[in-house]
Amino acid sequence: MRVAVFGAAGRMGAEVCKAVLADPDLELVAAVDPYHAGLDLRHVTRMDGTDGMHIEASADSLVRVGAEVAVDFTQADAVMENLAFCAGRGVHAVVGTTGLSAGDMDRIAGMFEPPAKANCLVAANFAIGAVLLMRFAEMAAPYFESAEIIELHHDAKLDAPSGTALATAGRMAAVSKERSPDPTRSEILEGARGARGPGGIHLHSVRMKGLVAHEEVLLGTTGQTLTLRHDSFDRTSFMPGVLLAVKAIAGRAGLTVGLESVLGL
Ligand code: NAD
Repeated sequence: MRVAVFGAAGRMGAEVCKAVLADPDLELVAAVDPYHAGLDLRHVTRMDGTDGMHIEASADSLVRVGAEVAVDFTQADAVMENLAFCAGRGVHAVVGTTGLSAGDMDRIAGMFEPPAKANCLVAANFAIGAVLLMRFAEMAAPYFESAEIIELHHDAKLDAPSGTALATAGRMAAVSKERSPDPTRSEILEGARGARGPGGIHLHSVRMKGLVAHEEVLLGTTGQTLTLRHDSFDRTSFMPGVLLAVKAIAGRAGLTVGLESVLGL
């Protein structure tokens, strides 16, 4: 399978280039990043096997090299144009870029709607463990009246709480009816109880040097607690999910949201 990467010189894009190069079933045929055009791909991947490939300035290179799938880890204001290009040229797309609005998702669904020649998968989290954590939390939620989520991230994360923590709370709230009322009557330091998320589930955000991306779901009922935790220690944690999506996308018509259905969850 011939794979192109948008955002190839970025932190995630470079990791995707490396993962594709290391996979015997995949071939890296184009690396696109207009802000780093002309850069030798070896500088980005620090791997052999790139055969003098350079970072390309535009998506046009995908057609020239016959890319079958494009992976996009860029930014919210760039991804839509890349996807329009892919849909128009019959190139399947796997998207990890976050910050897409509901309107963007509708437009993407329209672009790739069958009988379009290309399919698209958008996932806000490609870490298989994080996807499973959300599913396990959703399964457990109806059996526990108390639930709180702690998400812990590196010190450069600008938003709080994380999208994954919010999505976890949303899915837990959707399947559970009874939740214990918060006993707090006096919050001596504002924010001590975190933020009230969907279904009244409290969300706590930790930002700390040395961390990458971590989430803990605490559930409690009479005489017992259950703790679910996932840790992403570096960006390689997202790669098995990305590669899975790249290999599955040709067989999934239209727009697929999330990795769940690819994992059979
Ligand atoms: P980054 O800033 O390191 O990389 C983004 C790259 O995209 C940059 O090199 C930039 O030059 C390039 N770019 C900008 N416009 C482009 C265009 N039109 N075409 C091609 N390339 C273009 O960011 P990052 O840390 O690699 O994160 C990228 C995205 O992935 C973010 O939205 C981030 O939130 C998301 N992300 C998703 C997951 C997931 O599992 N889905 C995991 C981590 C990060």
